[in-house]
Amino acid sequence: MKNFAYSRAQSAKGAISLISLNPNSKFLGGGTNLIDLMREDIEQPDALVDVTGLSSSGIAELPDGGISIGAEVRNTAVANHLLIRERYPVLSQAILYGASGQIRNMATVGGNLMQRTRCYYFYDEASRCNKRTPGLGCDAIAGFNRMHAILGTSENCIATHPSDMCVALAALEAIVHVEGPDGERTISFDAFHRLPGDTPHAETDLKPGELITSIQLPPLQFAKTSRYRKVRDRASYAFALVSVAAALETGDGKIRNARLALGGVAHKPWRAYQAENALTGAKVGMETFQRAAEAELSGARGYGYNSFKIELAKRMMISVLSEMAEAGGVR
Ligand code: SF4
Repeated sequence: MKNFAYSRAQSAKGAISLISLNPNSKFLGGGTNLIDLMREDIEQPDALVDVTGLSSSGIAELPDGGISIGAEVRNTAVANHLLIRERYPVLSQAILYGASGQIRNMATVGGNLMQRTRCYYFYDEASRCNKRTPGLGCDAIAGFNRMHAILGTSENCIATHPSDMCVALAALEAIVHVEGPDGERTISFDAFHRLPGDTPHAETDLKPGELITSIQLPPLQFAKTSRYRKVRDRASYAFALVSVAAALETGDGKIRNARLALGGVAHKPWRAYQAENALTGAKVGMETFQRAAEAELSGARGYGYNSFKIELAKRMMISVLSEMAEAGGVR
């Protein structure tokens, strides 16, 4: 690991000022991904600015009924918070499905959004990887790609985003608050992470020097019965092969509102807009759920080892939607 300078910021403005002193510096949250990458020499910053000590309101209710979560709040604190468990159970469940207890105790909300892919070729300096070295090529496309993406891929990269928490935030239409040299702004969750396209190394919409300060959960009454399902190789601790975050509002035998997002299938948490369109206004039932799943996966592409994910994603969506319709009753 390369030597680096370390400083600890007391405020967002202080952190932004410190990071501006060196173009090759990075914000440090819990370090559960960044430090791993530095040990492997994949990331080689000259300086780290620790932002875990920034003061914020933590987890707070907003006047409109939504909730604000400070970027420095640890994942465990979010998962266990009563307001989150009662109003947005999908978020609590998604966090508890991610990583181990020890990692969740360290990892911050802001850091969770910023974690990088777990593509094994990205971590192996002997392999070709466009994300690590733009223009070098991608050894995953014709390689062992069982964990890789089936939606929104490009000829340059088929990596997946590893977060569970972010899949729930995508379904909940969270808003990301950031602050940088040009002031404060908000980014819709769907616009925060990028698809690989021609620039797989550019993973988020953040501008240089911008810091995530908080995440806002908009009020969503029907999120009270939301849920998260994850299929992985080991029940104890593994990244998703496919995951589903879902919230459903039904009435008079029809679906009034639907929110769906998929994990483990794309370079970003995948908001399932096509499935949502097929569900909204349709009759509650297996036929509708199947039509929605088919619509969402119609553009999927398998790369050999990961082709099983297409059918798995469809079956998981149908299963989760059926379970929710049964549990909630059709009003
Ligand atoms: Fe690199 Fe993306 Fe290819 Fe993995 S899939 S080797 S991260 S370019």
